[in-house]
Amino acid sequence: MIARLDPQSLLRASGGSIILCGRSIDMSADEITGGCLCGDVRFYASGPPRRVTHCHCDMCRRAVGAVVATFATFESSRVDWRGQLARYDSSDCAWRGFCARCGSSLCFGYKPRPERIYVTLGAFDDPNAYPAGFHDHLDQKLSWLTIDDHLPTVASAKHSADGEGSP
Ligand SMILES: [Zn+2]
Ligand SMILES: [Zn+2]
Repeated sequence: MIARLDPQSLLRASGGSIILCGRSIDMSADEITGGCLCGDVRFYASGPPRRVTHCHCDMCRRAVGAVVATFATFESSRVDWRGQLARYDSSDCAWRGFCARCGSSLCFGYKPRPERIYVTLGAFDDPNAYPAGFHDHLDQKLSWLTIDDHLPTVASAKHSADGEGSP
């Protein structure tokens, strides 16, 4: 059982930075927290995200079990995970992270670029604070889903989450 950490009290105690999993996170940036449905897996990220993207591709849709999957892109080194983040290799180039207990979808990684991680926005404690800025794989969007937010779109093969290929 991993004790729940209160980052704010840790921040006060340590005078500006906290150590999680042996790494120091700069708490002067936005601190973003989140986790799975059951609470076993929590993450602590130093934000803001590089970008937030709605992905309409079939693999992301299945992975998260929703008609659109929304991911926030971070440097991997700026996200620390607590608890058992299980991993499924969804293709030769990508993996999906989820809670081994409750199954919540929490992230995906693009193997050729391990320095990036894509965290599910729905797992954020405050997703309202980070509105999406892009649509990706609009060619695979569900036909009955109408989008009128006028965000930039990417029509095909490239994941706009920093230009990587499809997960
Ligand atoms: Zn869980
Ligand atoms: Zn996708």
